[in-house]
Parts: sequence; C-alpha cells; structure tokens
Amino acid sequence: MQDTPPSVPDFTQWPSFPFEGDIRVKQLDDPVPVEPPRRGEENRECTACNAPDEAYIWVGERWRVRTMDRPTGLPMVLILESRSHLDLGDLPNLLAAELGVMTVRLERAIRSLDGVARVHVNRWGDGSAHLHMWFLARPYGRLQLRGTFLSLWDSILPPISEAQWRENLAMVAAWLAEFGGRPLAEPPRIQWHAPSRFSTSPPDQAETADEEAVSVIEAAEEIPEPSGESADAEDATPADVVPDGNTLAGDADRQTGWRG
Ligand SMILES: [Zn+2]
Repeated sequence: MQDTPPSVPDFTQWPSFPFEGDIRVKQLDDPVPVEPPRRGEENRECTACNAPDEAYIWVGERWRVRTMDRPTGLPMVLILESRSHLDLGDLPNLLAAELGVMTVRLERAIRSLDGVARVHVNRWGDGSAHLHMWFLARPYGRLQLRGTFLSLWDSILPPISEAQWRENLAMVAAWLAEFGGRPLAEPPRIQWHAPSRFSTSPPDQAETADEEAVSVIEAAEEIPEPSGESADAEDATPADVVPDGNTLAGDADRQTGWRG
C-alpha cells in the first residue's frame, strides 16, 4: 500500500533493459501465510519424473538434458535435470559433485556453438521441486543482451531457425555423449521430414501444447500465475515439462503465448 508509487529503478535506463517508455512499478500483493506446493510437491505431479527419455536431447544414468519444445530467440536454451527427485540443497555428495561436472560440461558445449559468446547458468525452482538448471546462450556481439535480462530477451527476439536450432541441439547432445550417456537430438538431415526423435506427438496430446512454455520466461515456475486463473493453471500441464511426445505447437499456440 503506497500512496506514492515507488520510483522506477536505475536499471530501466540500462542498455540491456528490454523496454522503454512509461513504466510503473506494480503494486505488491500481500504475502501469503503458506505458499502453494510446487510441481512435484505434496499432491502435485512431478513432470520431470514422468517425462520419458525421448523428451530429452541427452540422457545419462543420473542426469538428463532437455530444451524447449521449439526454437526461441536465443541460440540455445537448455535445462539440466537430475533423474532423482531432489532439489538443489538436497543433493547427496555424489550428485552434488556431478552437478558441478555437468554444469561445466554443458557450459563448454553450448559456448562452443557458433555465434555464442556466453552461457548464463540459472536456477530458480519456484515452480517445480525437481532440480532443474537453466543454461541460456547469449549471442556473440549482442552487447545489449548482457546480464540479467537475457531470459526476457529470449522471448522478445525472433526465434532462430528450426534447422539451426536442431543443429545446435545435436551438437550439444553429441558433445555430452563424448563423456557417456545417450544423445537423442539429431541434426536436421532432411528439411521436409518431421522431427522424429523427441518431437513426435500423438494427436490426443496435442491439446496440452498450448500450456507449454516456449522460453525460460514463459515457464510458469519462474513467474506467478495470473490472478483469477490460478485454478486453471493448477490443472494445466506444467509449463516446463518436456511434453511426453513433445510436439511443435501450431501457430495458434504461438500466438496465444501462454504465460500461466
Ligand atoms: Zn521429480
């Protein structure tokens, strides 16, 4: 409850801030006494535990790597998940040590892609209890994309081409497989051929497509659900699930840009 709106912070003047024009600070909701369960907590299903290996671009004995269901603005957005249903602070030493190794390996793999200057590694975990680390690639030369707003720019920039995206995924999967595990992403060999390895979807699952996030910022876990729609969102397919039988959503889905 503020009588005078708080002033807009300095970062709105930074070159990396994606917006311009009149900006106001939102009214802050009252804190809730008890936070709702995340996905994978209490009565809520864990989408990571339920996702088949085929929904990932690389799988190993204890770790899996997945991506969004379609290209986004950044050259690469990947998510590293443990197979075990654990949150970051609950990892036993073996997995904690491996998380370090996997983080370094993935950073290196993504940074080796053409046109990638930096890889930002993030962990939020407000939406899902199952450990998942985000890897966001910043395009080389795009100084305006430096820093913390990169996840926003991912949704603002036009998506990279499907062919480039698949090639990048295949490169990273192959890189990881050099150290073990199984690569599941393949380069786009034939242009007209529908993607087959991690994007085949039975028609009866197509309706879930519009619930899936298409970028980091659209993953429900990282942003609050819109007021008044929380009931729907509760039932929705979680935004960051790699859909079993992942699908390339239709144009209509791209337009709606679900932000639950
Ligand atoms: Zn889980």
